[in-house]
Amino acid sequence: MAEDTDPARPRREDSKFENDPRACRSVCTLGPSSSSPEAIEKLIEAGMNVARLNFSHGTHETHRELVGEIRAASKRTNRPVAIMQDLQGHKVRLGHADAATRIILRQGDEVLISHGEEITAERLGIDYPGVERFVKAGHRVFLDDAKIELEVIACSKGELQCEVRKGAEIYSRKGVIFPDSELEFPILNNKDLEDARFGAALGLDMIAMSFVRSADEIGKMRENLESWGKKDTFIVAKIEDGAGIQNLDEILKATNAVLIARGDLGVTLPREKVPGIQESIISQANALGIPSITATQMLESMIDHPQPTRAEVNDVYSAVLDGSHAIMLSAETAMGKYPVESVEEMDRIAREAELEFNRRNRGAHTPVAGMEGINDLLAASAVIFAEYMNADCILGFSIEGTTHRALSTASPTVPVYGVLVDHSNLRRLLLHRGLSLTTMPREKKLDNLVPHALKKLRDDGIVSSGDRVIIVARQPEPEANESFLLKLSILS
Ligand code: PEP
Repeated sequence: MAEDTDPARPRREDSKFENDPRACRSVCTLGPSSSSPEAIEKLIEAGMNVARLNFSHGTHETHRELVGEIRAASKRTNRPVAIMQDLQGHKVRLGHADAATRIILRQGDEVLISHGEEITAERLGIDYPGVERFVKAGHRVFLDDAKIELEVIACSKGELQCEVRKGAEIYSRKGVIFPDSELEFPILNNKDLEDARFGAALGLDMIAMSFVRSADEIGKMRENLESWGKKDTFIVAKIEDGAGIQNLDEILKATNAVLIARGDLGVTLPREKVPGIQESIISQANALGIPSITATQMLESMIDHPQPTRAEVNDVYSAVLDGSHAIMLSAETAMGKYPVESVEEMDRIAREAELEFNRRNRGAHTPVAGMEGINDLLAASAVIFAEYMNADCILGFSIEGTTHRALSTASPTVPVYGVLVDHSNLRRLLLHRGLSLTTMPREKKLDNLVPHALKKLRDDGIVSSGDRVIIVARQPEPEANESFLLKLSILS
């Protein structure tokens, strides 16, 4: 990182290294329960690494405000937070209900579905015109993650006549799934394009694409982003249905991260298949060095209760043990009664799971197959070296983040502290497991930077005399094109 010294660059307040970092990263969805400056600050302090903004809800104005609040809270707390824009994708949604009226659909009721912006107990407006072209009598319709199930009795021009098979209260903008029908969607819809353009202009760190079905969709999004001057945007592919699973190999090659959208997967496919799908996506992603996010209903009961169920604790624990790079909270933080407690609970469970993860992984390190590039070998060697030397931590240096990404992929069993120069490169790494990151001003030579970084580790209360630190860097040398550094420092 030493070669790019730019004296014109202003020096900044750099964030602190995390003390006692949790390896598995935490993604929190923001919503009414977590949008005030105080609430965001508390989530950051409880351990949020990535804030997710759900673009199926809200307006550009409300999102712009929220982005400002997140950035301000990140500054106040001196902790980096990445912002993930979650696009609606190919998801059909209900229109809006009159805020003053509760709408309850009961078993045996009849209700119409048609294109429109309003929902009432008699007619449900959806944001998809001409749905009757793809639906037949006898097909099922699921509303709100299948909390409500309808059966289509008859189709006519512009509407579906349905009978309620399983009833519940219905709310504005909930998802509508037609599990027996093949609806057509454009490769990218206008709403996603407008939202992505808005996010690009705001400089958001990550874009999550919902219901990704092919690598082409990601390629097209990248083309659009590039035409708006946003090269190399960090894209998260959300896998939500059978098409995404069928084309997983090509999707993983095209994306920067993958999100296991268990809510929709459990509606579009038989629920009992989701645990196997989760394990398989995580292991395929890990084999390619791509971070995976396990999402949805992780601590669902904490929407209303201050404690999770034992089964939810098991679920979070297993997701970490399976090797998820990140775990995500949705309604728990967006609209629950206990958003901060949910993040704290997840933090405690993840830390406990990591003790077991490290116990199982110790001594089991080899470079990930197919990733035998010099950075990957160096990272795997650093992890093995750290274990054999009983090191306290690894300290890595990188400009773009390549060394840090390789260290994360090598499943480190000691904390990795990573130094970068640029805040936006840092935020692109906030879904990667096992990294605690900060930025430091550039130096002409790595030899000048290492003592500063070691001092910072000491000042931040992470290391002290006698501690062993493994140092990893790509080091520029006058006589060599490239050289790589792996060294053990025993602190005096
Ligand atoms: C999911 O279905 O699990 C999910 C994360 O998707 P959505 O954005 O619809 O909540």
